[in-house]
Amino acid sequence: MNARSKAVAAINQRKPVETTINFKEVYSIDRFGANVFSMSVMKKRLPKDIFKSVKNTVDNFTKLDPAIANVVANAMKDWAIEKGATHYAHVFFPLTGATAEKHDSFLVPDLSGNAIAEFSGKTLIQGEPDASSFPNGGLRQTFEARGYTAWDVTSPAYIMENPNGATLCIPTAFLSWTGEALDKKTPILRSMQALNTQAQRILKLFGDHSNKMIAATCGAEQEYFLVDKLLISLRPDIQATGRALFGAASPKGQEFDDHYFGAIPDRVIAFMFDVERELYKLGIPVKTRHNEVAPGQFEIAPIFETANLATDHQQLTMVTLKKVAKKYNMECLLHEKPFAGVNGSGKHVNYSLGNESQGNLLDPGETPHENAQFLVFCAAIIRGVHKYSKLLRAVVASAGNDHRLGANEAPPAIISIFLGEQLADVFEQIKNGGAKSSKKAGVMNIGVDALPPLPMDAGDRNRTSPFAFTGNRFEFRAVGADQSVSGPLVAINTIFAESIDYIATEIEKIMAGDASKLNSAVQDVLKKIIDEHGAIIFNGDNYTDEWHKEAARRGLPNLKTTPEALPVLVDDDVKVLFEKYAVLSTVELDSRYETYLEQYIKKIAVESKVTVEMADTVAYPAACRYQKELAESCLKMKELGLEYDDVTLKDLSSLIKGLKSAVGDLKKKMAHTSSDALDEAKACCGQIAPAMKNVRDVVDQLEAIVADDLWPLPTYQEMLFLK
Ligand code: ADP
Ligand code: MG
Repeated sequence: MNARSKAVAAINQRKPVETTINFKEVYSIDRFGANVFSMSVMKKRLPKDIFKSVKNTVDNFTKLDPAIANVVANAMKDWAIEKGATHYAHVFFPLTGATAEKHDSFLVPDLSGNAIAEFSGKTLIQGEPDASSFPNGGLRQTFEARGYTAWDVTSPAYIMENPNGATLCIPTAFLSWTGEALDKKTPILRSMQALNTQAQRILKLFGDHSNKMIAATCGAEQEYFLVDKLLISLRPDIQATGRALFGAASPKGQEFDDHYFGAIPDRVIAFMFDVERELYKLGIPVKTRHNEVAPGQFEIAPIFETANLATDHQQLTMVTLKKVAKKYNMECLLHEKPFAGVNGSGKHVNYSLGNESQGNLLDPGETPHENAQFLVFCAAIIRGVHKYSKLLRAVVASAGNDHRLGANEAPPAIISIFLGEQLADVFEQIKNGGAKSSKKAGVMNIGVDALPPLPMDAGDRNRTSPFAFTGNRFEFRAVGADQSVSGPLVAINTIFAESIDYIATEIEKIMAGDASKLNSAVQDVLKKIIDEHGAIIFNGDNYTDEWHKEAARRGLPNLKTTPEALPVLVDDDVKVLFEKYAVLSTVELDSRYETYLEQYIKKIAVESKVTVEMADTVAYPAACRYQKELAESCLKMKELGLEYDDVTLKDLSSLIKGLKSAVGDLKKKMAHTSSDALDEAKACCGQIAPAMKNVRDVVDQLEAIVADDLWPLPTYQEMLFLK
């Protein structure tokens, strides 16, 4: 028995549920937020004036009064110690897209040889991790190490539990000693501030002078794969790169559509309950779970929250998925395309904006044509997405996501907007002089008396659109499963702010102080926008060739790969945009561009090294063993004077030769170096990646003819279906 068949045998012995939690005793919804230093905990534990000050900063992004830090820190420490915490950690979000944490204990020895727990306002507000070891795109040299983490009051502290203890976690922004953002949180907070400033101008025009913070909201659906840990332990490619660099398609894939929304396997649902229980404790409102399209693929989605909180919670969700999977002897794969030939994983970013009194500003109501305020915000999105479509493409560019976009399972790299029938019609009317009516939502009669009549939405959904209106929000569907939602949210907030700024300025100009001119001013500006930017609207099937041709005719960019898309980050208009709204400085954009380019190059470099190693040390030896077996058998048959078949041996031998030459070619391509990062990235994309694919093609053919008991790599069938 080889390691692979031992693994398969062991998996077949697994019990579906390996931990037992008495879920009848502890109702997990009651534990929601149990480990969060939330508003309600603060209300109980902080003096009234201090609580009010914290709440004001959280609700309205007002300036934090540093004088309150000592009192908050002390209350936080007492609360954390009651929960068993001995340590605290500043949690931050470096440009790697991962979550980073630096831990310190509360312990301070006193003079008598004992220890006390201490946590001051200063340590709450500021931490000092080494900044040079995180990617910073040349902002910091190795010897210039100083970096700071800064307490983000708007995202509550929480307790991370481990069977051996607990840690108080404090979400923070991460900055270099020179003041530049080195992280994904700082720009999101800045962009929310910019969006609010501009949104307030529109609200004032429509008579709301309350100045209540308008916050961007986000609900991110996360797709992921689960594979048994034992199989992954035999796949160095998945361990090192997150995806299978080899593997012939399994005879049965997703063609029967029998996995999507199917019954969730016991072992998987046990895992899901556990994940949800952990996330509830952290105050993360996860809501939806189901099987996804590909075998072995699943989804989890929360209820939306304000953008900064949703981003932190999304990161925690990814960490928790990975952590809990191991407990169930599985690996959770967040790569955008772990398995060629079946669907990859995305992360749909649902986006809107609003506040308590206004509600959701992208909710059109029953009669959108009369809802001028809604139409203004909607038009701002249309204009922004058209003007900066390349930027939206750039913020979802990564080596992993390149496998997904445009592969007819996710939106193409061409950014367009789906509005739906009702809104498309309203904007068409605006274009022709003014909107007079809205197509009505209907009621569906099912034809079975026992079933209730179903209310029907005014428009259908479009799964193929990268940026789709879904009734009361936009859904940015091009984001990759492994990506932080921060980049996309920062981009949307900022282009939205710029468009709202433009619209507010235009309307103010036309009105010139005369409030009675509001409606006609809105009509004029909306018409202008739809005339100039209507080309971004496409309600059809984004997967078809006709659309690609039509999009080219409309002048919509189609940046197919990461090296084509990333340079947009440093285009002049993008720099001006981010500078103008104080979201990212030119220096910060340069550093991000360089960092993401570097990450792309490194990803492909690792993939190519693993490809060579596995081709040479796994596939080649397996093929040679089988070759020997076949050769010996042919020889014996010949000796015996019996008829024998050497076709397989000949095929195998020529594949082995092909393997050697494909690997040789890949090695040659890998030797390419350039001092220019963009050149290097282009070589990765245009030379190295195709050469890797050639090696894979041969190995996958070998897998199809080498004797199954000699093939050491777990197959697609085993990885996708064994649960
Ligand atoms: P789908 O049918 O598109 O898969 P899901 O229920 O899986 O829908 O996910 C929809 C997501 O959109 C949820 O996270 C939901 O909370 C979010 N959402 C709903 N309203 C808003 C809003 N106003 N702003 C942001 N996200 C929202
Ligand atoms: Mg969903």
